[in-house]
Amino acid sequence: MSESLNVAGNVDAAEVARFQSAASRWWDPEGEMRPLHDLNPVRLGYVERAGSLAGRTVVDVGCGGGLLSEAMARKGARVVGLDMADDLLRVAQLHALESGVSVDYRHEPAEQHALDHAGLYDVVTCMEMLEHVPDPGSVVRALAMLAKPGGHVFVSTLNRTPRAYVMAILGAEYVLRLLPAGTHTYEKFIKPSELAAWARDAGLVEADIAGLHYDPFTRATRLTDDAAVNYLMHFRKPDTAGAKT
Ligand code: SAH
Repeated sequence: MSESLNVAGNVDAAEVARFQSAASRWWDPEGEMRPLHDLNPVRLGYVERAGSLAGRTVVDVGCGGGLLSEAMARKGARVVGLDMADDLLRVAQLHALESGVSVDYRHEPAEQHALDHAGLYDVVTCMEMLEHVPDPGSVVRALAMLAKPGGHVFVSTLNRTPRAYVMAILGAEYVLRLLPAGTHTYEKFIKPSELAAWARDAGLVEADIAGLHYDPFTRATRLTDDAAVNYLMHFRKPDTAGAKT
């Protein structure tokens, strides 16, 4: 499986730089990361489908400034956060220190971490990141490798539908100016069938899909059956995955 991991080349420097430029405002709930702040409690609740996070080993891939990593650590998980943006990792580290929670933040590609830490994690999360990498299938293979047999993998991303284009790009970036223009590229949005196929090929089993509804006016967020814009998927790694003969 490792031959198909894109270890050295799966980073789009322009994408990372764009997120990095928001570093100082990452934890401002009214700043440009506001939608991530608003989505965070629902995402955390979804990850808790895996059961209590207390004492679990978790890796958060593309952790950014640490919104979800820190929330999971607060629930008692032992969290490693990976990102390729140095400034974001510094912000994440400082915030964790100030909050008195411990998270192990590392500047390392998911694929490299998977080669060195295969099968170590009870829970693997990768939120709002796959639509920003050149080769998302390679990241999904890394997520699968990182999970323990029987472990859980949670991914969120944006669906490639006309409605997602209208809501996530036209609406959020140009009309409401919730996000900086250029944050998202429609062609990089991912259909659930595509994500599911990468996951299946990597040996994961789909457990659930949920739409993530976000109302930018009321800031209300909830899970829905409608996965046409933002969605979450939950995969399991079979118990026997490590026992190939
Ligand atoms: N997962 C976090 C941050 C999402 S923003 C959250 O949902 O709160 C997208 C993040 O992906 C940014 O922090 C960006 O630096 C990171 N990213 C983009 N390309 C990456 C790559 N190839 N490897 C690791 N992180 C990447």
